[in-house]
Amino acid sequence: MNTKYRRAIIGGNWKMNLLPSEIKAYVKKLLPNLPPTRDCEVIICPSFISLGQTISALRGTGVAVAAQNVSEFPSGAYTGEVSAPQLSDIGATHVIVGHSERRIYFGEKDLTVNRKVLTVLEHGMRPIVCIGESGAIRDAGAAEELVSFQLKTALHGVAPQKMRRVAIAYEPVWAIGTGKTATAQQAGDMCAMIRTSIRKIYGARIARSVSILYGGSMNGDNAPELLAQPDIDGGLIGGASLKVEDFCRIISAAIEESAKIYKE
Ligand code: PEP
Repeated sequence: MNTKYRRAIIGGNWKMNLLPSEIKAYVKKLLPNLPPTRDCEVIICPSFISLGQTISALRGTGVAVAAQNVSEFPSGAYTGEVSAPQLSDIGATHVIVGHSERRIYFGEKDLTVNRKVLTVLEHGMRPIVCIGESGAIRDAGAAEELVSFQLKTALHGVAPQKMRRVAIAYEPVWAIGTGKTATAQQAGDMCAMIRTSIRKIYGARIARSVSILYGGSMNGDNAPELLAQPDIDGGLIGGASLKVEDFCRIISAAIEESAKIYKE
């Protein structure tokens, strides 16, 4: 992590977990346990149905709220979809785009991911763009090639001045929800490759300002080692974000890591 140039980000992706009636209790438990977050942006990502309620419960606390998905279309006859203007209107500040579960279970393609990134930016929110290879692709030695392709396609048409609002989440599919975390070396190397790819497109100044997160079975135990990698600026956390204690341990690890860099 290098917080001289970019901010640490810890996002909790609740996926399709927690009932709307359970949100109040989660927030009540989270707020007194939350470490002071000046040095780390904390983002909660609930289901659409709980977004408004979570935004109200966290208003004024410094904790941001993200949607887990968005329609690529701004409005119209798209039953069951939720648009970027609708999300922005209720106060969502971030949107997860291209999560592997959307790609795998709902057939989301790279070009759709690109259109979603553009619409999120157009409506003043910040995309957290998820990219990552499957186990089979890694075994075939094609992980870097695929991740680089996903990155370039997702960012196609994103103006340089908007890149400061983009975060990338490297999430190897084989590590998501499996308890099988990438080693710090594997995750660090891929995040470094992602930064190099951004540098090739946008130049060094922008590349060093983009926060790159790791996601895939991150927890309170493995977070310090992962976050110590120079190109890992935070985490997107699934399972471990559902338990306040675990989530807060990861946030503390990010704050500790960013404090180390400040001392240098
Ligand atoms: C995720 O859903 O983005 C994720 C990283 O999940 P988990 O932490 O459960 O692997």
